[in-house]
This record gives sequence, C-alpha cells and structure tokens, in this order.
Amino acid sequence: MDVYGLIGNPVGHSLSPPMHEAAYDELALDARYVTFEPAPDELEAAIRGADALGVRGLNVTIPFKRDALEVVAADELATRIGAVNTIDFSGEEPTGHNTDAAGALRALRDHDVALEDASAVVVGAGGAGRAISFGLADAGAAVTIANRTESTAHELADEVPGAVGRGLEDLEALLADADVLVNATSVGMEEDATPVPAGALHGELAVLDAVYRPLETRLLRDAEAVGATTVDGAWMLLYQGVEALELWTDREAPVGAMNEALRSRL
Ligand code: NAP
Repeated sequence: MDVYGLIGNPVGHSLSPPMHEAAYDELALDARYVTFEPAPDELEAAIRGADALGVRGLNVTIPFKRDALEVVAADELATRIGAVNTIDFSGEEPTGHNTDAAGALRALRDHDVALEDASAVVVGAGGAGRAISFGLADAGAAVTIANRTESTAHELADEVPGAVGRGLEDLEALLADADVLVNATSVGMEEDATPVPAGALHGELAVLDAVYRPLETRLLRDAEAVGATTVDGAWMLLYQGVEALELWTDREAPVGAMNEALRSRL
C-alpha cells in the first residue's frame, strides 16, 4: 500500500484526507492518506523518517511550509515563493514544491478567467498572497499587491516580476481598471467581513477568494451582487490537491470525485 499524508500542526480539521482518498478510490490505487502532527522542532526528523519509511508524498501546512524549504530540495517556484506545500519522495532525495500557485491559476482558468495580460489585484501578502502573486505574474498578468501592512506589499512586489505594492486604502482606485481580484487575506474567515469595499467591485471583475470556510464569503456575495465572476476558495484547495496528486502519481487526477468529496464536507 502506498502512503501519502499531510504534515502540520494542527491537522485535525483537514479536508485533504477525504479529497485524496476519493481519488485513490476512483483510480483504484492501493493507497492511504494520513495526517501527521509532529512537534514544531521535529520537522526535519519527521520528513527524514517519512522518507525512510517509504512514504510516497507529503503535503505540508501551517506551521511548517517555510521551514520545509530548509529540509528538502525545493524547486525554483517553491524557492521563490518561500514555502513548500508538497514533498515528493520518488527521487534520490525529497523534493519540495508549491502547488498553491498552480491551484489558484487552475481555479481561475476553470472559470474561464483569462490571465495573460490581465490586470490583477492580490489583497494580502502572507503565504497565500506570495504564492498567488508569483503564479499570476508567471501566467502573464500585471500584478498589484495590496496589503494592510503596506511595507510587506512593497517587499513582495520587489520580488514578483513587474508587480507593484500598495496599501488597502488604494483598493477602490486600483480595482476600477482591474480584471482579476484575489483575496489572499484571512478576512472573511472568522466573521462576516471583507477586505474590499463593496463599492469598489464591478461586473467586469473575476473574484477569487482563497478563504474556503465559509464557502460563500461576504466578498463573494458582494461580487455576485454586481455581476462579477466568482470563484470560491474550495476551487483553489481542490486544484492544489489535484496538482499534488498528479505530481506524486503521474496520473490524471479525477477532479470530479475530489471536488465532490471536498464540497460535501464544507
Ligand atoms: P498569512 O500568511 O498569515 O497572511 C495573512 C494575510 O492576511 C496578511 O497579508 C495579513 O496582512 C492579512 N490580514 C490578516 N488580518 C487582516 C485584517 N484584519 N485586515 C486586512 N488584512 C489582514 O495567512 P495565509 O497562509 O496567507 O492565508 C491567508 C488565507 O488564505 C487564509 O484564510 C487561508 O485559509 C487561505 N488559504 C487558502 C488556500 C486554498 O487552497 N484555498 C491556500 C492557502 C491559504 P498583514 O501583513 O498586514 O498582517
């Protein structure tokens, strides 16, 4: 039996096990997906141990995404993003990848959102904001990063090709000519709040909210009300998992089965 898993702390409420195991069922793979919760100072021992035990692949989540970079051979995108969310054990040494960027891009493309030459505004400059900003720039979009702590937006914009950094107070002006808006902050998760004033939204926008609990955030409700295209955070979660599964197994992921497993639990 092949073993895959998720390493993080905590991992109790993760939706990855049912999503991946739905794929194994559909593909008739003899595999299981389990969760591991090592102590914060045991990350390296945990990854080395998983390798020694023949674990095929690991997803990585909070608080280990950044530290995992130091333990595995990270690919170029994960190195630029500064975070690993997927480890592959099939080679000589464990390799690190970041499928959050591709997950966001596939979520948008799945909703017929054109990214090449698009004008994109990413709100948030934390882990998700970094991955999505690099991904959108690689896809040919002109990226503006708006963050509560404006200095962090400028720092990230200095790393992302062609990007500019701004504060949240500029959002209204920035969105007037934008094609794509991504919320990569945690606003909307704990309370019915949005980081973007409703008046700044318009019908020509495609809006992706990385927040997936709840699925229908206030930002997405506001966006829907003005006729914008809306993409909820479960699509990004789905496609980061799809990308990981395809990397590990070299098989085309059964997206429908994975999506159903995920959405039935949200
Ligand atoms: P993070 O690294 O902690 O970054 C948090 C970001 O949110 C920062 O830019 C922070 O701004 C901003 N922020 C926090 N509270 C704010 C507030 N009250 N007003 C304005 N901005 C605020 O977190 P992360 O890992 O990037 O995750 C961000 C969100 O993305 C979470 O909801 C997470 O669940 C979601 N996510 C979803 C997926 C998916 O697959 N759908 C994947 C990854 C993450 P400052 O810099 O000013 O603090």
